[in-house]
Amino acid sequence: MVTHSPPAAPSPAHICPSAQACSYLNWAARELQLDPGLLAILSTPRKVVTVAVPVRLDNQQIQVLAGHRVQHCNVLGPYKGGIRYHPAITLEEVSALAMLMTWKCALMGVPYGGAKGGIPIDPRQYSVPELERITRRYTSELIKDIGPAIDIPAPDMGTSAREMAWMMDTYSVNVGHAVPGVVTGKPLSMGGSRGREMATGRGVMLMVREALAWQGGSLAGARVLIQGFGNVGRAAARLLHQAGAKILAVSRTAGGLYNPNGLDIPALEVYTRERGGSMVGFPAAEPIDNAELLLQKADVLIPAALENQITEANADKIQVQIVAEAANGPTTLAADQILNARGITVLPDILTNAGGVVVSYLEWVQGLSYLFWEEERVNQEMENLMVRAFRQVVQEAENRQVSLRLSAYTLGVGRVARALQDRGLYP
Ligand code: GLU
Repeated sequence: MVTHSPPAAPSPAHICPSAQACSYLNWAARELQLDPGLLAILSTPRKVVTVAVPVRLDNQQIQVLAGHRVQHCNVLGPYKGGIRYHPAITLEEVSALAMLMTWKCALMGVPYGGAKGGIPIDPRQYSVPELERITRRYTSELIKDIGPAIDIPAPDMGTSAREMAWMMDTYSVNVGHAVPGVVTGKPLSMGGSRGREMATGRGVMLMVREALAWQGGSLAGARVLIQGFGNVGRAAARLLHQAGAKILAVSRTAGGLYNPNGLDIPALEVYTRERGGSMVGFPAAEPIDNAELLLQKADVLIPAALENQITEANADKIQVQIVAEAANGPTTLAADQILNARGITVLPDILTNAGGVVVSYLEWVQGLSYLFWEEERVNQEMENLMVRAFRQVVQEAENRQVSLRLSAYTLGVGRVARALQDRGLYP
């Protein structure tokens, strides 16, 4: 491929979604000695869509929301990625997350490209009928941009199987027949997969298990800190506890709990369920805030909440052997370098939290073959794909003498770049 130097400053047609996402891409590109033309293609999302989502609220007023969908790359297959409802979401963040999905899918060996969608709302401020109207109108506005062979949304922060059911129904009504393959993370009643809800947390548990084994340890008795007790943090806590790990601390936005001998996770799950998610007053634990939780002494730290939690300000005070990134981007670039220099193993997000999209892929495969599997089979197939990816990342890191993060990126980026090169540039 004949190439020219990329423009010095990004033009509107050359959008690099966020400094951090592009730093990782550029870092991998340097390591891979990637052709600058290929890098320019991979730096640029293929399609960036923002639609107006007018919605009638329960009080009859009309509100017009912005609905984003960014499709980063479809070289390996349809676009794939979650729909996020969060008040702080921006088009820039959605673009960065779409790019991350491309590398994550390629790293896992699932035939998708990355996408992400989002509406900047706090879903707790809306009634269920309002959320349904928002989701249906957003889907309808995107009707030509999504589809089982085009772009397949899934749940993400602030959305769940309920929103996927509304999306599937809206799409199906518009095209005139049922299309279960347009979304994954659906309810079981309409072609969802067993094991999907716990999948991201299960993947986190598997990656922690593999990393401990790689370092000569095991989950039995391992001391774990988990920041975040949402869908991912809770599932990871439950599965790690079942496997014999001690969960010393967990937290939510409003604060958390700490017990140096380990928390009773099954009892905590019942306690929080009965109190609308609140942990306050749980017996046999001290309160701890989110920032303090990160600094406790343990074997493993799992940030499973928001991005940018481990920064230059606290990276030198982290007291664990392994940081397992269950959230997307919980570690800043500068903090990542500090952790590496201190010999702390960082399991990168595109590996650690890939369980969700892997089971989404298995859901899609089951749907295409009209044959639905028992949960054990889903979990086993997912484990095979994730453990294979873990071993490849470790092998690549050893071959290149780089961190697990850089090796995960060189594998993900390298696979997409190779496919792009083999397909060639049209026309
Ligand atoms: N939202 C999840 C992620 O970001 C899952 C995406 C999917 O299943 O397509 O990895």
